[in-house]
Amino acid sequence: MASANEHKIQEIRSQLPTEISLISMSEAGFYDEIEENGETFQQNALIKARAIHVQTLQNCFAEDSGLEIDSLNGEPGVRSARYSADHKSSLDNLQLVLYKLSNQKNRKARFKTVIALIYNSKEYVFEGVAEGEIAYSITGISGFGYDPIFIPEMSNQTFAQMTTAEKNQISHRGKAVKQLLNFLNLQQNSA
Ligand code: IMP
Repeated sequence: MASANEHKIQEIRSQLPTEISLISMSEAGFYDEIEENGETFQQNALIKARAIHVQTLQNCFAEDSGLEIDSLNGEPGVRSARYSADHKSSLDNLQLVLYKLSNQKNRKARFKTVIALIYNSKEYVFEGVAEGEIAYSITGISGFGYDPIFIPEMSNQTFAQMTTAEKNQISHRGKAVKQLLNFLNLQQNSA
């Protein structure tokens, strides 16, 4: 998987059947920084998957994801990881979101994930969306990124109050991974 994000890798690993082992970029000996300069999640996912594929000539996939907030015209979007500035922490990013929404009643938002798969030299794309809203404060300690301020629809908990298995059931990434597994004829790990 063309990612260095341990949280994403751990979430995806937990959905895979036990006979599949997922190898991250560093485990495959790939340490170069891939410049994610696309304007959409799909473009960035394809950039990452192609970068690994040209080096390894192996089947591989990448995922790009982020948060879109309606009242911020879709921000932070593809800039989710570096919303408050390059190399700032997740806490800085989510505090900036809470600050920008401090007088805002419309808190509708969604997480999106696009997985780009290169399989037998052909490219495939799978997308997952989780609708929800931005909380008024930080709640929960699990997960990563904006999880402590995102309440998915039909829930009264943030993603950071859920176990990985609970989050995977309804999350953007969980849904995209389900499609990837279906395409590869693999069963999802239900544990
Ligand atoms: P990427 O590595 O460019 O795809 O960065 C995605 C960024 O979006 C992450 O660093 C997080 O800030 C945010 N993000 C994506 N998926 C999630 C999630 O499931 N929970 C919380 N934040 C997420």
